[in-house]
Amino acid sequence: MEKLLEMQGITKEFPGVKALDQVNLTVYGGEVHALIGENGAGKSTLMKIMNGVYQPTSGRIFVKGREVAIENVKKAQTLGISIVFQELNLCGHLSVADNIFLGRLPSKRGLVTDSRLYEEAKGILDMLELHLDPHTQVRYLSVAEKQMVEIAKAVSQNADVIVFDEPTSSLTDTEIDHLFRVIGMLRDQKKGICYISHRMEELERIADRVTVLRDGQYIDTFRYRDTTIDQLIKLMVGRELEDKYPRHKRTIGDVVLKVKNVRRQGVVDVKEFELRRGEILGVAGLVGSGRTETMRIIFGADKCDSAEIWLEGKQVQFKSPKQAIESGVAYLTEDRKENGLALSKDILFNINMASHELMAKYGIIDDRKMEESARKYVDLLSIKTPSLHQKAMNLSGGNMQKVVLGKWLLRNAKVMIFDEPTRGIDVGAKFEIYKLMNELSDKGISIIMISSELPEVLGMSDRILVFREGKISGVLEAHEAEQVKILELATGVAGRNQETERRYE
Ligand code: ADP
Ligand code: MG
Repeated sequence: MEKLLEMQGITKEFPGVKALDQVNLTVYGGEVHALIGENGAGKSTLMKIMNGVYQPTSGRIFVKGREVAIENVKKAQTLGISIVFQELNLCGHLSVADNIFLGRLPSKRGLVTDSRLYEEAKGILDMLELHLDPHTQVRYLSVAEKQMVEIAKAVSQNADVIVFDEPTSSLTDTEIDHLFRVIGMLRDQKKGICYISHRMEELERIADRVTVLRDGQYIDTFRYRDTTIDQLIKLMVGRELEDKYPRHKRTIGDVVLKVKNVRRQGVVDVKEFELRRGEILGVAGLVGSGRTETMRIIFGADKCDSAEIWLEGKQVQFKSPKQAIESGVAYLTEDRKENGLALSKDILFNINMASHELMAKYGIIDDRKMEESARKYVDLLSIKTPSLHQKAMNLSGGNMQKVVLGKWLLRNAKVMIFDEPTRGIDVGAKFEIYKLMNELSDKGISIIMISSELPEVLGMSDRILVFREGKISGVLEAHEAEQVKILELATGVAGRNQETERRYE
């Protein structure tokens, strides 16, 4: 196998963070080289250095044995290196063909010929089994199709090394199958593929070799068939994961939240449920079963036809999330990036975000107090950051989640609603979030956890509410619940149901 590219001792320092520390990577032609590691391990940074997006602080790069400097993306392309970015960067108003050849339109004696452009584009698209008219404007394509256009772009540039950074995060199963076929095809053409993923099950399908990064450190490289998933996970997180769910004995108190007759025509019709002090109440159900809708109504975020709510025995009515928050109810949304955080603001701001009036004396924000509380929760939650002034968008997923938590803890929340708290977070960070939830419940905080991951619901909850078609179809004690039982309640179908089980994963 030909050694296409070698990165030696790559170190990258951002202000206050060492993102990479002496990392090595060798890519051969005809292989899929998976790069794995928890969020924040440095995978994307390494790939951006390979593609000229960032310059390394130190280290050497060789392309086909020759040492090179990759000053920018253009230079990387000239050297035969391409990246299919996580956040795709295509021009929506241009055609597929224009995007494929952007910046280097094919020419005949110096003149661009449209027909040749479309012909070439069509050839590449066909090869990728993408049956699209090259004249179509890119903005009309699905995410998967856009990704294929990016791949077509790399192919048309004759790239030897093609990098995929978490390409499957927003694809359906069928689209993933297509992507993997295309990657297999590129491998057969002796391209070197770098593949970043945090979904371990994908490795089984495509990885030839695997490099593990942890906290910016190079751990090791293996032939995939010489290792096991367990071994790789252990190396990724740097400790044994004998128990995925930190079980512990909880003391459950009186009813804190009582809910009755939550209704919205055609969406939810919930008779009643209760939440006790220090309890973790799991909420299971298929996507669209009314779990999030019910909780949003309780939180005052959505309109409803009726909702009767008692908080610590007192009847309340939240007309807005603001009122819910003031009464000590917090809602941690599924989409941290969109709803939970001000991404361009720093940690200091984000933690204090919901508590500004608590921080203000005579209408003036008390900077010292804000710093103190931000520092307190950064320490308490072990948020990994060089300073309080790190922007939220530069944090890894698990640490973003912790900042959101810090924000609510500072508000003295009594009831916390978590909506898919660990979605898109890797194994190690998940464990940290679970430990935090346990600590919160020890402090007497009551938690409602909406989750589509059944093992998580079973592993963390004291009781489980199951939703189906807008109603509660069952309430289970976690210790007597099992996956099959929850699925039956969620689908209304007795026995094992392969299809739904798969959707749950
Ligand atoms: P991964 O892709 O493995 O999740 P990244 O390469 O994105 O990890 O990040 C590695 C580390 O570098 C993280 O601590 C992240 O916060 C930090 N980082 C990444 N990009 C920047 C940046 N532009 N500025 C400051 N810090 C950054
Ligand atoms: Mg990344």
